[in-house]
Amino acid sequence: MALIVQKYGGSSVADAERIRNVARRIATTKDKGDQIVVVVSAMGDTTNELIKLAYQVSEQPSGRELDVLLSTGEIVSSTLLAMVLRDMGYEAISLSGAQAGIRTDSAYSRARILKVEAQRVVKELEKGKIVIVAGFQGITGGMDVTTLGRGGSDITAVALAVSLGAEVCQIYTNVDGVYIADPRLIPEARRLAEIGYEEMLELATYGAKVVHPRAVELGELFNIPILVASSFTQNPGTLIHGGVSMEVRNKVRSIAYDLDVAKVTVVGVPDRPGIAASIFEPLAKAGISIDTIVQNASINNITDLTFTVTKSDLARAMRVVEPIAKSIEARECASDSRLGKVSIIGTGMQNTPGYAARMFEVLSEQDINIQLITTSEIRITCIIDEARVKEAIRALHRAFELEMEE
Ligand code: ASP
Ligand code: MG
Repeated sequence: MALIVQKYGGSSVADAERIRNVARRIATTKDKGDQIVVVVSAMGDTTNELIKLAYQVSEQPSGRELDVLLSTGEIVSSTLLAMVLRDMGYEAISLSGAQAGIRTDSAYSRARILKVEAQRVVKELEKGKIVIVAGFQGITGGMDVTTLGRGGSDITAVALAVSLGAEVCQIYTNVDGVYIADPRLIPEARRLAEIGYEEMLELATYGAKVVHPRAVELGELFNIPILVASSFTQNPGTLIHGGVSMEVRNKVRSIAYDLDVAKVTVVGVPDRPGIAASIFEPLAKAGISIDTIVQNASINNITDLTFTVTKSDLARAMRVVEPIAKSIEARECASDSRLGKVSIIGTGMQNTPGYAARMFEVLSEQDINIQLITTSEIRITCIIDEARVKEAIRALHRAFELEMEE
């Protein structure tokens, strides 16, 4: 008998019929004799609608109230699923995040899980029940409800899998797994049967939205295999785990893109100690997360500083940076919100010099101008005009296709 955690995303529980479909899948697992904990997201677009509602009644909803409001979405889906399972003759019980012992810090709308006190879940499992936990939420030491950030049910699922010592965390969604490149852009792109945590982390962070990066991080830390598969098909999905052999795979594993990129350039910055801190500290205080930062080598002690943010943060970032630029006597502050990034990812690229050159060559063959470049050990990212991103992905997929054969 194994203990399995299954998570079903919002589109998998979007209406009554889909909830019944999910219940049948859960029943099949239960019939095999496994213990099962299910984590659900809110039905369909519920979370977006609740956010909209909050902003209709308040210009700046209180973080505490907003989190209680948003947590109700997952409560609805968890209770409905429990009702269906009970009608099918299965012992099932729904638990809110608080009841399931998900303890978090008190950073509303982006809370972090501190620990899982899983006694209640364990007790219900021991009674033979299917335990259904409302995802995306937890509770602080002071008994206030928090949410974990958008897409946070994945994090709930992996955290529960870790604390219960589950064999696997299965994340069911509306796509078949992890693809070499977005199948909506590249219909012939192949699905990966498996991928390592590190590669998946880069992929999830640099574009592919199939699983939350924080969930992958947790999985890696505690070595919990994560299966990503569709709740609508019986396809095997993609297994994210630690055993993927690195050495034999001298290649690009996947291509990611992200259209949500804007850049800010502070031009003509005096090059002296403390300047970067004077710009980035206030940005951090304003809660604006910075992605790429590039500073040129200075000429005559004057340099340019460029960084990227999400498009929705651009206006706020400019409001923070403009007065600072003035005070440090920079020449000007410029921005561009029509950018996107494309990344190639693969542990096989580590210590192999040819990959960056090949990527730049492919883009230049398409006459695509590279504005910024960033790399990690296993990733190369180019920031380009957003209008050229799709072309870039197609060209890169073509160029690296052979290498990607398993
Ligand atoms: N319902 C939440 C959201 O839409 C959490 C989740 O789906 O995982 O962000
Ligand atoms: Mg969702």
